[in-house]
Amino acid sequence: MVHFLLKESWKFFPYPSFKPNQEQLLSIVYKAINSRSHAIIDGASGLGKTVGSLAGALQTAKEQGLVILYAARTYKELDRVIEELEAISREEQVTGLSIRGRSEMCINEAVLRFSNDPRTVMELCSDLTQSGKCAYYGNMEDAGTVRALMDDFLHTPTGASTLISESKRLEICPYEMAKLLLPHVDVIALNYAYLFSSPIRENFIKKLGRPLSQHVLILDEAHNLPEIVSEFESDHLTLSTINSSIEEAEKYGKPTVKRFSDSLLELLSEMGEGEHIVDLKSVVRDALRMARIDEDLLYFLEEIHAFGESIKSLQLSKGKVPRSYIHRLGEFFLKGVETSGRSDFIHLMTKEEDLPLRLDIIALDPRTSTSEVLNSVAATISMSGTLEDMESYRAVMGLPENTIKTALPSPFTDEQVLVLSCKGVSTIYEKRSPEIYKRMVSKISEVVRSTPGNTGIFCSSYEVMDGLLGAGLQRSITKPLFVEKQKARSLEQDRLVEEFKKMSKHGGAVLLGVMGGRFSEGEDYPGDEMNSVIIVGVPYPKPSARVSAQIKYYESLFPNKGMEYGYIIPAMRRASQAAGRPFRNLDDRGVIVFLDYRFSTKYLKRFLPYWISSKLITVEDSEGVLEKIVLEFYSNRSKHHQNQKN
Ligand code: SF4
Repeated sequence: MVHFLLKESWKFFPYPSFKPNQEQLLSIVYKAINSRSHAIIDGASGLGKTVGSLAGALQTAKEQGLVILYAARTYKELDRVIEELEAISREEQVTGLSIRGRSEMCINEAVLRFSNDPRTVMELCSDLTQSGKCAYYGNMEDAGTVRALMDDFLHTPTGASTLISESKRLEICPYEMAKLLLPHVDVIALNYAYLFSSPIRENFIKKLGRPLSQHVLILDEAHNLPEIVSEFESDHLTLSTINSSIEEAEKYGKPTVKRFSDSLLELLSEMGEGEHIVDLKSVVRDALRMARIDEDLLYFLEEIHAFGESIKSLQLSKGKVPRSYIHRLGEFFLKGVETSGRSDFIHLMTKEEDLPLRLDIIALDPRTSTSEVLNSVAATISMSGTLEDMESYRAVMGLPENTIKTALPSPFTDEQVLVLSCKGVSTIYEKRSPEIYKRMVSKISEVVRSTPGNTGIFCSSYEVMDGLLGAGLQRSITKPLFVEKQKARSLEQDRLVEEFKKMSKHGGAVLLGVMGGRFSEGEDYPGDEMNSVIIVGVPYPKPSARVSAQIKYYESLFPNKGMEYGYIIPAMRRASQAAGRPFRNLDDRGVIVFLDYRFSTKYLKRFLPYWISSKLITVEDSEGVLEKIVLEFYSNRSKHHQNQKN
């Protein structure tokens, strides 16, 4: 039973009234933190989860002397935390800081000229500070300036960009300033990597000035966390690094490394095309044998790692970028040996046409990254608009069984959101044919015609996207078509999406992209920027050794759930993310069309967010039906708008 405080008691809530379901969110957050437990909250975008969770958390965290760590993925999300804290601080005393990595906070041109790679920046920084060559670091000794700036920053919540610009103005290091501020603020907004990437976490925790047990953790947009945190523990090595290590070995006179790398290439070249599960420890052992290097495997790797380190030091002493491919080789294979034989890791070798050979160390268990933090903090709140199925999220993240799970009711009315699932079409592999693509194109054109402005189409893969284009999608619509390219640069993609959005005021356009891609996850389309969204197919990944290993691993941990946790739910989250793109604010209105009958099956429907699944209507496979329903929705919407104006 959720305990509700009186509305006027929420002193950290800065706005005059709550949005629908927002007060319930505050109460759940308050209760979870107050009882030092964990909560998972699934709620639609636009209900004010950032300010709601902050207000609910501050209410109890301040009393209990707990600091809030608010973790998210993008700068935009972290900036939002500071904006909301600023609103809160107009009435209540609250401090906050959003931080970025050293490579983004460093202002020393001597470093930035060389590289913005985090590790290189760290090495350059440590060299410059130890040798007394960074003036910004040296200026930190001016206690008066530092104290005055700290007072300023502790007066109001401070975003990373303000911290950087103000520190720059006073010629002191923003990164060092952030380190000084961390132990004194109520809320720290930070990227997931600070908590879930082990080398970064070790350093970061030391700077907090208090144990993790005195912190509360809010995880925003948590739906992708299982995949993101697994990435932190994974690693890969490409063919070019092995080739470069050979050149480096020749240059610095290290024949054993040259022989080892040559043998490695020979061994790998013997494997056929495709994805192969390998054991990196055996690969190293075989390469050493072939190269006639009679050394203990671990000793050899540690030795070349140390040799690479000495190359980097030499480069630094000559004022060059500290980079060593031999060091990288040693580092990668040491991790390979460490993870060899472990059931929570697999090693892969991938050789594909047009792509360079690549070795991967893949972490299969998100708990490898999360357990230390989740078991140490006082409480956690995981939030997103697409966290169904919450039990799978709880299990794979390693949250306890008594975690509170809440799906907030839909804040959208039937006049706002129409959700349709079409019979007669599917992207099931065996059913894909020119005929089925034509049928899909016909349904898409019905939706585009009956939508007053912009329509987004998100496909399960580039192959399906090509299928639609091949079936005449371009010809079947009269509005301009913007197509996401698989290998386009991000600037080019940004321009394309901006052009598409602008078309909402000029008769509308159609955006064609893939689920899980840049347009369907990183971009919002509020208001009229996207009225209708069409989801073409269920975005299951292609069968691969990696996917099979993930399913098998989850099956071993969660009997009868491997397929669901490792394959079905991640795909449904991608589909839900894409479907939710036009609904970012509570007054957004639009149509979601699932162009695959599987979305309306009882089994898959339950993995859609409640605010979508509760409105889903199945549409018969008959020409013109879709157009009629969508047209009717938008004409009712116009009437509704008109009534509201009157
Ligand atoms: S001390 Fe600061 S400014 Fe100087 S190199 Fe390091 S991060 Fe950059």
